[in-house]
Order: sequence, then C-alpha cells, then structure tokens
Amino acid sequence: MMKEEFIFIGPPGSGKGTQTIKLSNEYKLPHIDTGSLLREAVKSGSNDGKLANSFMEKGQLVPIEIVSSIIKDRLLKQDCQDGFILDGYPRSIEQADALDKILKEIDKDKNVNLQVFYFEVSQEKLVERLVNRRSCPKCGAIYNIKTMKLQDETKCPKCSATLTRRDDDTEEVAVKRFKTYFEQTSPLIDLYKKRNVLTTIDASLGIDAIYENLKGAIK
Ligand code: AMP
Repeated sequence: MMKEEFIFIGPPGSGKGTQTIKLSNEYKLPHIDTGSLLREAVKSGSNDGKLANSFMEKGQLVPIEIVSSIIKDRLLKQDCQDGFILDGYPRSIEQADALDKILKEIDKDKNVNLQVFYFEVSQEKLVERLVNRRSCPKCGAIYNIKTMKLQDETKCPKCSATLTRRDDDTEEVAVKRFKTYFEQTSPLIDLYKKRNVLTTIDASLGIDAIYENLKGAIK
C-alpha cells in the first residue's frame, strides 16, 4: 500500500488550512498544522509554549528545535501510518532538511507518494483574507466574514460557538509574517520543483474551484 504524504506550502491566508481540512476529511488522512499545534502549546502554558509565543507574536518562525520535536512526535503516531497532510511545515530550508531526516527514519521500507502543493496568490488578496478571517474554537472551521456573508458574524453557523480571531491576524503582524514567508519559506518552492514533486495551485480562486484543481493534481 502506498503511503500518501502531502505538503502544503503557501503564504499566510492562501487558503492552505481550508483546503487541508477538506482533503483530510475526504482522504481520511490526518491534517497536521504546526500553527495550531503551537497555539495549543501556548495555551498549555508550558515553557516551550511560552518561548514559541514570543516568536509567534512577532510573526517570526519558532525555533527549529521546538517545531522538529512537535512534528516528529506527531508523525510517529499510529494515525499517520498510511499518510498525512502537512500544513505550514516545513517553513524553511533548514526545516525541509530536518523533515527529510525524520521521514527517512520513519518510512524505511514503505512505498511513499510525496507531493508538494504550492498555493500561489497575490499579496493584496492575502491581507484582506487575513483581517477578515475568523475561526471556530470548537469545530475548527475557518470563515471569511466578508466573502461568506454569515448571518451572525460572531457565531459559528455549524456549532454556534463564538468565533475567534487569531492574535496574529492583525495587519501589523500579517506584514511581518509575509516578510518571514518570502525570506524563509518561499525558497522551498525551488527546492521541491527541482525534486519534481511540486504542483502549483492557483489559490486566488474560490474554495470549491481550488479544491477541484487540488484533487485533480493528486497522482
Ligand atoms: P500559521 O497558523 O501556520 O499561520 O502559523 C502561525 C505562527 O506559528 C507562525 O507565524 C509562526 O510564528 C509559527 N509557526 C507555525 N508553523 C511553524 C513552523 N513550521 N516553523 C516555525 N514556526 C511556525
């Protein structure tokens, strides 16, 4: 049996999270989102969480030691045996090298289909998506209060929980997150292109159109 390993790369607000949630439900693969795992660590009040938060509030990458150990623990879990979807990891060349090592160790004699999807979209669209983004703390759904025209902008239409806005979804931190993305994450596009595992997805389209293109690109 083939192990499916999907990696999603794209700037903040490119819709990776929304698409990974959909794909994860349909393909029954765990959705591993380092941003959410780090936000959980922050909430737990652990030392790692405190340290991570000091980087997150500045829109910078959390130190690799913290991220690598979180990812390795997660990829070793039973539910990742047949594959997984990585959302927001790796985010630098250094992290891509670390991931190669981790996968070499855990995939030893497995047949693996590794594919990287790059979500391409213009920056103007992104800031607008980020400042209008809200998420449900209960079911994890993500909304854009401007384009989705929710009847009540404060409540999740699926489960009625009060929607929250991420602390780093302000225009000020968003600009820093883009800078981090362009400096540290975007070099991964060339790295994976050279390995012939990269597919570019037009992420300026609507949610359903992006999802159709994404599924069509899966080998
Ligand atoms: P995200 O939810 O993917 O937008 O991530 C939110 C924040 O968490 C980022 O701005 C970083 O500070 C941190 N973060 C998420 N993933 C990583 C990663 N792979 N490496 C380092 N920091 C990360």
